[in-house]
Amino acid sequence: MEALRQRLRAIDQKGYKAYKAIEGEYSFPAFTLAIDHVQGDPFAEPSKIQVIVPRVKTVLTSEWTNTKPRRVRCEDVLARRVHHELRQWPARARGSGKSGLVSIDAPGQKVLERTAVCITDETIAICLSVGLPANGRRILAKEAESIFFQQIPAVIERAVYGLREEEIRPAVELADQQHAIRRYLHERGLVAFVANGAILPRESGVSDKPLRKGAVPFQSPPELEVAIPVPHRAEPIKGMGIRKGITLIVGGGYHGKSTLLQALEHGVYDHIAGDGREFVITDSGAVKIRAEDGRSVANVDISPFIGTLPYGKETTRFSTENASGSTSQAASMIEMIEAGASAFLIDEDTSATNLFMRDARMQALIAKEAEPITPYIDKARQLFHDYGISTVLVVGGLGDYFEIADCVIKLEQYVPSDVTSEAKQIAAKMPSGRKAEGGVSFGRIRERIPLPESLNSQKGKKAKAVARGRHVIQYGLTDVLLYALEQLVDDSQTRAIAAAFLYMERKGWLDGTKTVRQLLDAIEERWDQHGLGSISFRNGHPGEFARPRRFELAAALNRLRTLRCRQ
Ligand code: ADP
Ligand code: MG
Repeated sequence: MEALRQRLRAIDQKGYKAYKAIEGEYSFPAFTLAIDHVQGDPFAEPSKIQVIVPRVKTVLTSEWTNTKPRRVRCEDVLARRVHHELRQWPARARGSGKSGLVSIDAPGQKVLERTAVCITDETIAICLSVGLPANGRRILAKEAESIFFQQIPAVIERAVYGLREEEIRPAVELADQQHAIRRYLHERGLVAFVANGAILPRESGVSDKPLRKGAVPFQSPPELEVAIPVPHRAEPIKGMGIRKGITLIVGGGYHGKSTLLQALEHGVYDHIAGDGREFVITDSGAVKIRAEDGRSVANVDISPFIGTLPYGKETTRFSTENASGSTSQAASMIEMIEAGASAFLIDEDTSATNLFMRDARMQALIAKEAEPITPYIDKARQLFHDYGISTVLVVGGLGDYFEIADCVIKLEQYVPSDVTSEAKQIAAKMPSGRKAEGGVSFGRIRERIPLPESLNSQKGKKAKAVARGRHVIQYGLTDVLLYALEQLVDDSQTRAIAAAFLYMERKGWLDGTKTVRQLLDAIEERWDQHGLGSISFRNGHPGEFARPRRFELAAALNRLRTLRCRQ
């Protein structure tokens, strides 16, 4: 500790580069401070430090972290507490650039595995970003001293040592309950569950917080209600269960269809208490599929949906720099089958109509031979039968789907009802007259093997692999655009994806023998065994990552314009 003080005093008023001298580990009375990475100048990304607290001095005994979901929850609680305490300190810069700004990679409405706090058997490591203070580029050592010797000890004292069991208990119990529901879904053949009383609508289109005024709480139709026993409460949790197979969500415009589907999209992650979606739980393999014209596609066999294109363009090895609505959506589906999805969540609002329907009249006018597209309606059943992939589809205008649906849920003024038998009767009484065009099976999925040149982080002499917000990764000379990934929910997930690309590149994983699926498995295994931060190249600092699903990782790889694959 005194060593740090001395080093700081020795570099006071010197040029900013002299800060490098403080990299290293220091022991404080209450923790060990590791200064892993010192920024190059006051305007650069802040310096990275870790505060390592011995667990024995906190209330965090091992029972609170004896399962993975519990440990992640405790890490989440601590990250929120540290964030809260840091905010009690003046946020203004103490000098130039980011001088004096101290922050933690704080979670939002979701509980994700993240590197901000890492609990092991003996320690709690808290990762902070610190803007080392300067006036211009001249070191302000006194200001730095106050950060390390006053602010951080005070924050750790309150946030970590001040943690009480009363605060951990409800969070851990909620984690246990959410986990129990996930397991139940898995065991009972359900794709999703929406508890009675859940609040689905959000404050606004750009907020993940619940709508405060006038939200109609969810209430399951009696026919679809399931009661799921969960720990830490006597009564089971009741709500709507969506079974595997093909489910339609129908209803008039503005009656809440997309809102329900979005809640299902987000239900692949756990939410904090008070969010309204605590007990909206979706199979973690459920993937939103949407149209995204303009995206690139690298050697995907989209022939199950789209046959030979005009001028004989083959679709068994379809590549483009500029996909259309239907080809982009078809490619996304095949890519997500390749990545191992268990369900597709689809909203007509964001879909290519011609990929979903060709009605009897259009079949009569345009011969099958002249239409490359086989609509989803003729493929959804095969997709479930051949690959076990369920569909949850929002449709307001495509009644032909009644025929293939296992369940039809109607929303009226945000209230759901089960109209399956009514829809089936209508389908029987008013035949659609269309012919099935889908053939006898879905079709083979050819696994792709990415080639080594796909990942090239070099930009001039330097490597560049950075996330710019949530939806852009700058990788070498290309920008990967992720605006269409609606289940990418945290900027730190995007950072983790950028880091995973760099890791795969530097480790030579894309050696021309591994399939996309094998690469995804390998990254997940790395994260499971060595931790999310183990892909960081930052001097022992685990980075500021939140764990993305394999599907978002795959989706980002698939949108890399330099991706080259062989089948
Ligand atoms: P649809 O997809 O059926 O056209 P949306 O899901 O887009 O409808 O919902 C329309 C509007 O209603 C949105 O502003 C949404 O926030 C709001 N809304 C949805 N569900 C609820 C609800 N349960 N309570 C209150 N408002 C809701
Ligand atoms: Mg809608």
